[in-house]
Amino acid sequence: MPMFVDTSPPGHCIFCKIVAGEIPAAKVYEDDLTIAFMDIGQVNPGHVLVASKRHAVTVLDLTAEEAAAVMQTAQRIAHAAQQAFAPDGITLFQANGAAGGQTVFHFHMHVLPRHEGDGMALSWPRK
Ligand code: 5GP
Repeated sequence: MPMFVDTSPPGHCIFCKIVAGEIPAAKVYEDDLTIAFMDIGQVNPGHVLVASKRHAVTVLDLTAEEAAAVMQTAQRIAHAAQQAFAPDGITLFQANGAAGGQTVFHFHMHVLPRHEGDGMALSWPRK
């Protein structure tokens, strides 16, 4: 089971507060539709979350424009991670709904630099 599940109402969730600058985050990129910041739980160094700025819960709630923008931002972050951390690989993943492993109910994609033998299970949710 996840240690923390954010079920705050729309506009009051953790990631809405990060978008609004109401709580601190290590922001690495933003544009009109997306924001990228370091995951507070850093599974590996360089673990970044790319979130929609608008409060959408899952991939099903994104507009086509937002979905495209998220992927474009994730690619930018992946390029930066490649330069900064020289990983052997990069995992992109994205959980939808509690049954899908989502714990913060504001759409986000993980960008995770990977290294041979880092031992990370690819299963989600994390144990
Ligand atoms: P999910 O399980 O929903 O795919 O991922 C949620 C992620 O949000 C987790 O990896 C967790 O570490 C991260 N997270 C939770 N709360 C905060 C926070 O307040 N700030 C940041 N930067 N990340 C958070």
